[in-house]
Amino acid sequence: MQNQMPKGTFDILPYGAEEEWQSSDLWQFVEMTLRKIACDYGYREIRTPMYEMTGLFDRGIGETSDIVTKEMFTFQDKGGRSITLRPEGTAAVMRSFVEHNLANLGAVHKFFYTGPMFRYERPQSGRYRQHHQFGIEAIGNGTPEQDAEVIDLLMEFYHRLGLKHLKVHLNTVGDLESRTRFRNALLDYLRPYLAELSAESKIRFEKNPLRILDSKDPKDKEIVKGAPSILHSLTAAAKSHFDAVCRCLEALKIPYLVDDKIVRGLDYYNKTVFEVMAGDLGAQNTIGAGGRYDGLIAMLGGPDLPSVGWATGLERVMQVMKAQKVSVPLPCRPKVYFIPMGDEAMEPCLELATKCRHHGIGADIELSGRKMQAAIQNALRAEIPFCAIIGSNELSQRKLQLKNLQTREQREIPFDALLKELSHV
Ligand code: ATP
Ligand code: MG
Repeated sequence: MQNQMPKGTFDILPYGAEEEWQSSDLWQFVEMTLRKIACDYGYREIRTPMYEMTGLFDRGIGETSDIVTKEMFTFQDKGGRSITLRPEGTAAVMRSFVEHNLANLGAVHKFFYTGPMFRYERPQSGRYRQHHQFGIEAIGNGTPEQDAEVIDLLMEFYHRLGLKHLKVHLNTVGDLESRTRFRNALLDYLRPYLAELSAESKIRFEKNPLRILDSKDPKDKEIVKGAPSILHSLTAAAKSHFDAVCRCLEALKIPYLVDDKIVRGLDYYNKTVFEVMAGDLGAQNTIGAGGRYDGLIAMLGGPDLPSVGWATGLERVMQVMKAQKVSVPLPCRPKVYFIPMGDEAMEPCLELATKCRHHGIGADIELSGRKMQAAIQNALRAEIPFCAIIGSNELSQRKLQLKNLQTREQREIPFDALLKELSHV
């Protein structure tokens, strides 16, 4: 075939998609749910460009992260500037927050975003070069209650989608002093294994050893199993924040598990970090992840404000929905399908269909003059519940046959009574 989609991408289709989770009905349901929940928790939408100046991600994500070292879609524009398709949302949201001085417009700010992200990864199930995220950022509040609120929002989102058996894996990466202590303990532990670490982790050993805990290399994973726990390196302040987050999650009845191996891939995290895993996904089992990044806004040139947030990958979420056979509400479909029997019925059909549509009642019409059975098949395929059939008899009496395609029951309805009839069936 001549024109194929690029590697690592997929189409979202109303029907005929390669995989069930690529159905646009499902995407619409998930997107509706995310907009509603963001509103219920007081988060407002922020939309940033699909690309940014490359420097933002270099600085904002951290030079030893997977994203920056190997996954960015970077190119030069015609003016010679280095541009990168956004690999994640937080750096861009914070850039925008600082650039527009939004800190002057309030003490706390709650944003959500959704849209495609781009990472040059090896394509496989749950890992694409263009994927979609729903993310939130809560800026201006450094309390453990704020951490618990964002975690609850994430879990409630999954709950509203009908997902089950999910658990928050919770950890803390402490404050700077905790991390310095931990770094030393970790280096002492890893030093004897240095020769066995992957090439990437050897570099991390020098530049950012915490990142080794996040390695996907099987050998590295084995080695870090015996690593010391950051929980033993916490300062009193970092420990008390973490304990308070745990208490809050218990009060909100959110099931969680302390998992001291979670450090998160990005450089900007401090204190609380978390991931939500799903058992139904195989290797790519993290469906959402986030944490606190109190220094990020200041690092990007803004005021020193605390912030916490997360992002969840919509592809993986929908894959779990399908694996768990979640049923979703019926998608939006026209209510009635007009079938003109003969040319002279065409115009009245079109008029009635138009009238329905203008009154917000979904209608479609058989315009290509197919025979009744073929037209009914068309309506069934489109999952439209009623047919309105107009033949010459009906036309002369200004009536139509309204047929319920599920029950097969058929009734005669005057043209004038159709709107009223359809608004309560
Ligand atoms: P992973 O460890 O699986 O590579 P990550 O740490 O790189 O994930 P984040 O940067 O935290 O992921 O992104 C948030 C969420 O976005 C992830 O939890 C995941 O659900 C989703 N995600 C990340 N990368 C991809 C991708 N290439 N394809 C599909 N979903 C992705
Ligand atoms: Mg990754």
